Amino acid sequence: MSDAVLGPGPHTRVRRLPEKARYDEDTVNAILDEARYCTVAGVVDGLAMALPTLHAREGRTLFLHGSQSNALMKSILSARRAAVSATIYDGLRLARSGFESSIAYRSVVVVGAVHLVDEQAEKARILELFIDAVLPGRAREVRPMSSQEQRLTMVIALTIEEASAKVSGGPTEDSNEDQDLDIWSGVVPARLVFDEPTPSRDGAMASGTIEVPQSVRRLLGGAS
Ligand SMILES: Cc1cc2nc3c(=O)[nH]c(=O)nc-3n(C[C@H](O)[C@H](O)[C@H](O)COP(=O)(O)OP(=O)(O)OC[C@H]3O[C@@H](n4cnc5c(N)ncnc54)[C@H](O)[C@@H]3O)c2cc1C
Repeated sequence: MSDAVLGPGPHTRVRRLPEKARYDEDTVNAILDEARYCTVAGVVDGLAMALPTLHAREGRTLFLHGSQSNALMKSILSARRAAVSATIYDGLRLARSGFESSIAYRSVVVVGAVHLVDEQAEKARILELFIDAVLPGRAREVRPMSSQEQRLTMVIALTIEEASAKVSGGPTEDSNEDQDLDIWSGVVPARLVFDEPTPSRDGAMASGTIEVPQSVRRLLGGAS
């Protein structure tokens, strides 16, 4: 737990429904770490462009990666700054009216300076961080990345300078007059669930003797 706050900053003051805003670093980090992917925004060929992509956080640095030819990544590098958002979908908030109905969510917007990570050892370390961000423990189960694979991959570090979080949840908020209507209202929580894995059937996996690794068993709740 820290007392640090990351906003509001010049780009991250929540104006609409400010009662849902959070700026403390713990909330921002928790959302970034739980979100399975983020959306990076930038300008490509004069158009505001947004792309979903994976991220990995370390302290106040958010790492992004992609192909060396990724136009959006190149554009944020030349702009030297970027905005990234990430969202966790927590369910439906079904009011008696469509107007008051909404979803439960936790989301963040982070803004910061970006730079290319090109030092080889640091790049290799961050790429491992990515593998574990997607599935904790997986980095030590896969073969090491080749230098060619590393060369093909661009790694970008975004230093979080300011951030906002918005947390929407709790019961629905119908107006007083709507509350007497004979219409069902309530909250339907949602969460991400991983189902039973489907093993590959090619190569060495065709033998059927390679066991489900610890990382996947842990994901499914079967290993510590
Ligand atoms: C999954 C999802 C679905 C949504 N669907 C809708 C929808 O259908 N219609 C709609 O109007 N709104 C929707 N929202 C809310 C939306 O993200 C904005 O908060 C809202 O539209 C207000 O935008 P604004 O530019 O007027 O906000 P402002 O408050 O003026 O935005 C100013 C600053 O506040 C911060 N901010 C704004 N929104 C967020 C956020 N969600 N998370 C973190 N920081 C934020 C940013 O730093 C932003 O620069 C949705 C949010 C989520 C997570």
